[in-house]
Amino acid sequence: MRFRTLTLLGSTGSIGRQTIDVLRLFRREIELVGLSAGGSNIGLLAEQAIEFQPRMLHVGDPQRASELRAALAGRWDGTLLVGDEGLVEIAGSAPADLVLVATVGWTGLEPALAAIGAGRSIALANKEALVCGGHLVTRALAETGSLILPVDSEHNAIFQCLQASPNAPLRRMILTCSGGPYRQATREEIAVAGPERTLRHPTWSMGSKITVDSATLMNKGFEVIEAHHLFAVPYEKIQVVIHPQSTIHSMVEFVDGSILAQLGQTDMRLPIQYALTWPSRRPTITPPLDFRKLANLTFDEPDMERFPALAMAYEAGRQGGSAPCVLNAANEVAVRMHLEGRIPCGGIAEVLAAVMARHDVSTHPELDDLRQWDQWGRAMATEAAAKCAVLPGR
Ligand code: NAD
Ligand code: MG
Repeated sequence: MRFRTLTLLGSTGSIGRQTIDVLRLFRREIELVGLSAGGSNIGLLAEQAIEFQPRMLHVGDPQRASELRAALAGRWDGTLLVGDEGLVEIAGSAPADLVLVATVGWTGLEPALAAIGAGRSIALANKEALVCGGHLVTRALAETGSLILPVDSEHNAIFQCLQASPNAPLRRMILTCSGGPYRQATREEIAVAGPERTLRHPTWSMGSKITVDSATLMNKGFEVIEAHHLFAVPYEKIQVVIHPQSTIHSMVEFVDGSILAQLGQTDMRLPIQYALTWPSRRPTITPPLDFRKLANLTFDEPDMERFPALAMAYEAGRQGGSAPCVLNAANEVAVRMHLEGRIPCGGIAEVLAAVMARHDVSTHPELDDLRQWDQWGRAMATEAAAKCAVLPGR
């Protein structure tokens, strides 16, 4: 194992809690030195801090800091940071050789850059960091020589497959996609569907934002952009294949026509563990895959008509510059409005299309420019959502 000290950002979320499960298996080998969460679950953050005794702790919501201090009184001693600046600070200054970024949305980019800038390697769950600022992350990695290990299951799978022939030329990279809860729904059904139905993901249990993104296939679109930056492959070589069983986590095809796939249980603790223990392989707590239950592995093409978000992500990725950042900002707003029951699922793509139609792409944006584009995308999306059809029955 190469990494001995870890900072975990987003510790109370779906990825964060599963990372804690994995860390319990490697307590003697990996020390948790930094721990961070937003603050909606102070009780859990305090429990994690008491159990792992990190040297630095961060809570995003400054209003919850005194509650956290009270919960920790006499049971934890270290540096407590708060707010957005605190998130960037813990990422760069906790003495970790690996920073696992599992916050959600735009919030991942700045701490990821801070960690890399301070010479730390990163394990990335937060794909939005690469969507918004992939060119900045790639440049920072080249400057510091830090490593990036993908936690997202598809990219973790590809990372594993590529280790067989690291420098061999590729014909294609094939990202598998469950199809989500609307795989068999009509465009009309999706247009009026509410959040309860959107949140019924068939194969993965995840945080609410990524679950909505998985229903619109925006998640897969973001993963296409993520793959482009992680593995330096052109968009025309990245293909999405619907595979409802989610057993094949993704594949690579080399120029000689040979395809390597990575298979496993649909359990995020597997890619998390591989990122933490890389380049070693260690025993897992996940039960083995039962091949008798896998009689039917099926594959299909994604339908860009019913899932326009996927096409919009390819388009924004090809445009590059500020386009993916604006798409992400608009999507964050539209997803939140859908979760709040203010717009139907089909409204998300309407909002995205309206915002992207008004966006003049700027090339080579720096971090300050991206911050502004993020704000602009949010403002435009709020305007567009106000004109969107309301959810029937509300
Ligand atoms: P989640 O909503 O369950 O958890 C998000 C975490 O981030 C929480 O701990 C929250 O407190 C924290 N957070 C939010 N804002 C913060 C802030 N300002 N400062 C500090 N912490 C903050 O989300 P999740 O499902 O765990 O997903 C996390 C990321 O991983 C997302 O980018 C998602 O796309 C990606 N991902 C998730 C899964 C999955 O199975 N859940 C799979 C692949 C990729
Ligand atoms: Mg994924």
